[in-house]
Amino acid sequence: MRRNRNVKILATLGPASNTRESIEKLFRAGADVFRINMSHTKHELLRELVGHVRAIEADTGRPIGILADLQGPKLRIGTFPGGPIMLVVGQRFTLHLNPVTGDQTQVQLPHKEILSALQPGARLLLDDGRISLMVDEATPEHAVTTVEIGGKLSDRKGVNVPDTQLPIPALTEKDRADLAAAVEADVDWIALSFVQTPADVAEAKKLVMGRAGVMAKIEKPQALDHLDAIMEIADGIMIARGDLGVELPLEDVPGRQKQINRAARKAGKPVVVATQMLESMITAPAPTRAEVSDVATAVFEGADAVMLSAESAAGAWPVEAVATMNKVAERVEGEPFYRSIVEAQRAEPEPTAADAITAAAHQIAENLNVAAIVTYTASGATAIRASRERPNVPILALSPVLKTARRLAIGWGLHCVVVEEATELEGMVDQACKIAYREGFAKPGQRVIVICGVPLGTPGATNMLRVALVGRAID
Ligand code: PGA
Ligand code: MN
Repeated sequence: MRRNRNVKILATLGPASNTRESIEKLFRAGADVFRINMSHTKHELLRELVGHVRAIEADTGRPIGILADLQGPKLRIGTFPGGPIMLVVGQRFTLHLNPVTGDQTQVQLPHKEILSALQPGARLLLDDGRISLMVDEATPEHAVTTVEIGGKLSDRKGVNVPDTQLPIPALTEKDRADLAAAVEADVDWIALSFVQTPADVAEAKKLVMGRAGVMAKIEKPQALDHLDAIMEIADGIMIARGDLGVELPLEDVPGRQKQINRAARKAGKPVVVATQMLESMITAPAPTRAEVSDVATAVFEGADAVMLSAESAAGAWPVEAVATMNKVAERVEGEPFYRSIVEAQRAEPEPTAADAITAAAHQIAENLNVAAIVTYTASGATAIRASRERPNVPILALSPVLKTARRLAIGWGLHCVVVEEATELEGMVDQACKIAYREGFAKPGQRVIVICGVPLGTPGATNMLRVALVGRAID
């Protein structure tokens, strides 16, 4: 079974899709990686979901990725015992560290890190940015604010502080426990929410210890200030447009999406465009034109993956949402301008053997009209560099390591196959041709490019490129 597109599809699991049968339907409709949102998933359910995905993988023989998304320091106000209040523009509203009875004039904000960091002139955004407060004076115990944008406010609404760098790590106690459970359950990626600095990512990497890829979710302006450093240390990047669109003016989000996507392509880190891509499909079987256009934009940008959140987790049409993404992606990649648009942002090879070889493979693929590039990869690094080239033919990533194949499921253009460890070169070339044929990427008489490292089994030694003919008597 193969996909007919380069861009990958992430589908979030949730009440609408948590059964083995539903997950299989999502997979067949086009989902390449499943996302488990730890904000809403207990550890027992996490293990059950991983089990379902692994069973489907065993049945279909296709490596499938699993991403566990940590909640991060989601900040919330206290409660209003008298029911929701109505904030009016220009009124005073005070937030207290200690428990106070929430009413028209005040509420608890049980996060000392925020109160200690706030400065006059900073904004506090409540309830996904629907309400905006301007800080007039702040002490570690309370903040007096003026309402800039008013509205209804009820218990435990979320708080965003776009202008303030918080002295809090991206990993809470809950996140640490969730991370440990997810790594233990053998997920392939861990996503970190509300990353502010490279140190946040470094801390997660230290805990994960290479057992999964670490993806930094870019959803705070502070992270944009350190984008290159975060990019360097993270294994992947998510453009988390939901919270990003609360912390930044909405009209800034498209530009930041382009900026982050380009930076990630340049760094060679898989990049996922997330949130509200087909939002209306939570309740309707067909998307809006604008949503189709949003998916198309990400595909034209050459993003590694597009993501569904509530559409597949809690919506009424989860399978249709995946099928829609699949259809839009296939169509966009078939457009005559697709290649030239993706190519325009091609990242120059860096001075390494792996980049020189994969760039050469890309060029030869164009010159010789080959059917596919086949790369042997143990750690996945060579396949990611080949993907970074965004070549005009599919890339088969052959790996003896199942974990590598699963992790690579997120990468642009990569079709992963688990193979026996090869011991001699001719056997490898032969096997590459056979698999390209068997998986439906090359017909007898067509050529493929094989890249690998010799001597075999030396990590990071990509140094060989071979143009091979798929034999006519292959089967
Ligand atoms: P979330 O992340 O769904 O975990 O909040 C995505 C986003 O903020 O866009
Ligand atoms: Mn978020």
